[in-house]
Amino acid sequence: MPTATDQAGRLVIISGPSGVGKSTIVSGLIERLAPKIRLSVSATTRDPRPGEVDGQQYHFLSPQDFAARREAGDFLECMEVFGRGHWYGTLFDEVRPSLAAGQWVILEIDVDGARKAREQFPQAVTIFLTVGGNSVEERDQELERRLRSRKTDSEEAILRRLEVARREMAQAHTYKYQVVNDQIEPTIQQIANILTQEGLEV
Ligand code: ADP
Ligand code: 5GP
Repeated sequence: MPTATDQAGRLVIISGPSGVGKSTIVSGLIERLAPKIRLSVSATTRDPRPGEVDGQQYHFLSPQDFAARREAGDFLECMEVFGRGHWYGTLFDEVRPSLAAGQWVILEIDVDGARKAREQFPQAVTIFLTVGGNSVEERDQELERRLRSRKTDSEEAILRRLEVARREMAQAHTYKYQVVNDQIEPTIQQIANILTQEGLEV
């Protein structure tokens, strides 16, 4: 079993407030950089959104299965993200085999999960995605606009995500790179440049 110290690939941790565009940017990056880089498919107990497929966007687990895998030590990190009983986590199986094979692996996870992942993989490249704006209010408004444009969340879920978003934004400085997602293509390019600078050979 490979350990954190003999890995050949590297872990890339991408966080940012809900609605900032993480999924959009990460899928653009994978399109551009696969198979050298792949996305770790997280496990979650939340319900699939329309169009989401088990094993693609997430491994959708029942709360019982999630808890059993947690007990078994299968998670690199896992968290109850929105405070209402929805768990999210990174399975070791999604990370170790790829790193051992020399692939770089992206974790798209929240700030608390990122802290735990970094403890185990201190060499991880950490990137915080944020929105532009001249004030906290402007940034909040843009996030709200994006969350509403996605049309996937209830009003209650949107308000909860915005509240968590404010707390997450305050952690941006703990990441090595902060990238403003103003326009999709330039943001993908900017992150691809960061990864190349960090040693990704494409
Ligand atoms: P996250 O994964 O961070 O929650 P998504 O990738 O689902 O965010 O994006 C949220 C919404 O914002 C989607 O409707 C997406 O199309 C839109 N979006 C993503 N990037 C941008 C951008 N640079 N400018 C405007 N809208 C964006
Ligand atoms: P969503 O429900 O919108 O797909 O994701 C909600 C949040 O869960 C995102 O902000 C994302 O960062 C976080 N998340 C997704 N997968 C994981 C994971 O494996 N671990 C942790 N800690 N957070 C995750």
